[in-house]
Amino acid sequence: MTKKINSFSLKFDTDWQYAAAPESSEHVEIKDKYDLFIGSKFVQPKSKKYFETINPSNEEVISKVAEANGSDVDAAVSAARKAFPKWSKLPAKERAKYIFRIARLIQERAREFAVIESMDGGKPIKEARDIDIPLAAAHFFYYAGWADKLEYAFPHRKVEPLGVAGQIIPWNFPLLMAAWKIAPALACGNTVVLKPAETTPLTAMKLAELIQDAGLPDGVVNIITGAGQTGAALVEHPDIDKIAFTGSTEVGKIIQKAIAGTKKKATLELGGKSANIIFEDAAIDQAVEGVINGIFFNQGHVCCAGSRLFVQESIKEEVERKLKARLETLIVGDPLDKNTDVGAINSKKQLETIEAYLKIGEKEGLESFQVKSKLPKKGYYCHPTLFFDVAQSSRLAQEEIFGPVLAIQTFRTVDEAIEKANNTPYGLSAGVWTDKGSKAFNLSVQLKAGVVWANTFNKFDPTSPFGGYKESGFGREGGLQGLEGYLKVE
Ligand code: ADP
Repeated sequence: MTKKINSFSLKFDTDWQYAAAPESSEHVEIKDKYDLFIGSKFVQPKSKKYFETINPSNEEVISKVAEANGSDVDAAVSAARKAFPKWSKLPAKERAKYIFRIARLIQERAREFAVIESMDGGKPIKEARDIDIPLAAAHFFYYAGWADKLEYAFPHRKVEPLGVAGQIIPWNFPLLMAAWKIAPALACGNTVVLKPAETTPLTAMKLAELIQDAGLPDGVVNIITGAGQTGAALVEHPDIDKIAFTGSTEVGKIIQKAIAGTKKKATLELGGKSANIIFEDAAIDQAVEGVINGIFFNQGHVCCAGSRLFVQESIKEEVERKLKARLETLIVGDPLDKNTDVGAINSKKQLETIEAYLKIGEKEGLESFQVKSKLPKKGYYCHPTLFFDVAQSSRLAQEEIFGPVLAIQTFRTVDEAIEKANNTPYGLSAGVWTDKGSKAFNLSVQLKAGVVWANTFNKFDPTSPFGGYKESGFGREGGLQGLEGYLKVE
């Protein structure tokens, strides 16, 4: 059985941007049940188990997906291993053709991907439409371009693919994270087994259908669904050469322990508590807009979210007033409404986590601000929240909340801003708002973060590397550097 959803009835507009091909389908097809994608076929799980994936905006079941157990993981890894010799020896420009084909097919079905991403994960349709899906296609295009140019990426060096890559991705950018993982792995000649997160498996399964349509050789990409246990079975499988993981720091540590002493290579992209710093010489309105985007984009379910705001004392009153005014205009609600700014929280569990942090703020006696707009009766929603004068020692300033909650602090001098911003176990990103180029450059060197944005935030591009310092992980994804994680370079 397949549900057919007319995307126009979902208030989908025609003001489509650069991602969708003109012939992009208006219909969204979601099956009632998804099997595992192993060896280019959809196969029933040996576990015989399926679990439900729900729409967090209304708590309705969208579909059921297979739960892969150890034997299923083994079957997927075997299929990838079997495909490796042929795929890795294929002339590189032939490999590129397949990857370009995936990119084009994503564009053709961009509309469908965007609607499913929004339904399964709760993100506003305008973000899925304008950011997630176009960027996913862009990643495949970008890495397809590298496939036959690896000798130029690493001149005078010998490069070889690693083998079978096990890839585990989170629920905040499901298709985009699949693209970040699969595209460079294939370009370098590896085969893959990908596991999407348990709350957002549907666009990965759509991608499996698309990969089948693209005619990729059997077993080059395998996609298996399941929760943490499935992920752990993949990590522990002896025939995996590389683990690429994006998710929580907690699970990242478990993975590191599990692979210690094995031949497995790893890249880990973990949590964050990123600083957004506004200096008194900044264009304040622009900075306020960047701060709003930095923390409320994708409901704050962003590992590099600007969840700590540092405001220079002299402009504290103005910035806080403008932030409050901007909060009044944010539309929180139905993710499929194209006017929605902040959609649904991804899961009940995540909503409970965020609410626990709101209580901590209350207990600490912090002043806070929320706009109590009317929220849908069903579904998981959270009002965007500001906390003021947060102490450096507060858990709200130290711990990753992964929700629409901003901790505001102040500083007087540049050195104080740097010291406070770096005073965290994480180091994924930072933002600097200033009129002075020299200040931006100085901070980009001093801030211990993998990405430092100047007068912007949350800007992503396939050509630029992304990754962390400290407990935010290691290895880079994106850009030339993103190839290294999938190659032996001698
Ligand atoms: P969150 O806590 O935000 O859900 P996780 O780090 O738990 O983030 O999840 C990210 C991904 O890691 C998901 O695909 C999840 O199923 C997977 N995962 C969870 N636990 C493990 C584990 N022990 N080993 C491998 N993967 C895991």
